Amino acid sequence: MDKNIERFIRYAKIDTQADENAGITPSTEKQKNLSRLLVKELKELGLEVAYMDEYGIVYAHLNGEGDVIGLNSHVDTALEVTDTNVNPRIVTKWDGKDIILNDQYKISLNQFPHMEQFVGKDLVVTDGNTLLGADDKAGIAIIMAVLDYIKEHPDFKHHPLAIAFTVDEEIGEGPKHFSLEKMGADYAFTIDGGDVHSIDIENFNAQQLRVKIDGVSVHPGEGKNTLINALQLQAEFIGMLPQKETPYYADEGYWHLTSVNGTSEQVEFVAILRNFSRKALEELDTKIYKIRDELAAKYPKATIKVEISEQYENMKPYVDKDPRPVKKAEAALRKLGIEPKFERIKGGTDGATFSKMGLVTPNLGTGSGNHHGRFEYLCIQDFNKMIEIVLEIIKR
Ligand SMILES: [Zn+2]
Repeated sequence: MDKNIERFIRYAKIDTQADENAGITPSTEKQKNLSRLLVKELKELGLEVAYMDEYGIVYAHLNGEGDVIGLNSHVDTALEVTDTNVNPRIVTKWDGKDIILNDQYKISLNQFPHMEQFVGKDLVVTDGNTLLGADDKAGIAIIMAVLDYIKEHPDFKHHPLAIAFTVDEEIGEGPKHFSLEKMGADYAFTIDGGDVHSIDIENFNAQQLRVKIDGVSVHPGEGKNTLINALQLQAEFIGMLPQKETPYYADEGYWHLTSVNGTSEQVEFVAILRNFSRKALEELDTKIYKIRDELAAKYPKATIKVEISEQYENMKPYVDKDPRPVKKAEAALRKLGIEPKFERIKGGTDGATFSKMGLVTPNLGTGSGNHHGRFEYLCIQDFNKMIEIVLEIIKR
């Protein structure tokens, strides 16, 4: 087996699943198992500065000439499907027929028509019981392969590199303890996407809405002119939100109700608010406050509390201000005969927050797909292409 794929499979087998309820960093101690291994391997690859900090984040530096280019991937895996006992299998020269993962699950072109592009190529898949964790161990393996190439080719002239392997990306906490100072890069890339031709330069602005409603609870028999049912008030509130701005109808941005908890006396509901446009998101906020005020006026005995908190921001304004990384990536793709596609992520990336912190960080692909589930795959040819792309980016 190719040593770069062998390296990916070795990382994939290490359970690094995050936990959204832990309240500590890293959210799971086991993420450090991979971080520690990476420090050891970085040293073996000749990096003099390579260490894990108290949060499990790995930083490493390699000298070179020119701008310091940052490369980042995350060690943790998603929460939807288990990451314990990952048992990767290679399908060589896929004929396009169903890939039987186990008795229960298969990968078929019917279900995943976008996979047509991989017919004739080699895929790493799961045994149907776990996710694969190519998100984002493929990213890590790409960075390690690049460092390996540099070690094997002492004449290869390159930029100085700042490497960071972060923790807890999947629970939105990758940037929480991330240090720009320890990283020490001029600009960076997250290698945490899918297709090789993608350069992700835009993502949602994201907020969370939390509404707490206290009604007035008395015996319904004595309720006339007194009882205010919090559940009904909650339904009225939601009914006043713009109904066409939900994921079913809207593409550019939306509000999406995620939970409702409560009784006729007290209710709390949570929704996520997303939009590529900051202005549109703020307009939605204004509508929400207006609904609160209208309902408060209609039901003065009820209490309605609205909390809107920031989650992450669109990186586009930051990327536009410092186009260096995008230009480099674009040039590298074209040099290798790949037409770059500038994509908008309907979600967030750690890079979006790094960009806001001051380190402009667009996202590149890994050659993997169907993330966060048992149908996850890694296309070996695309993975190898990504290694070439990153080498082209950092080349002097
Ligand atoms: Zn990821």
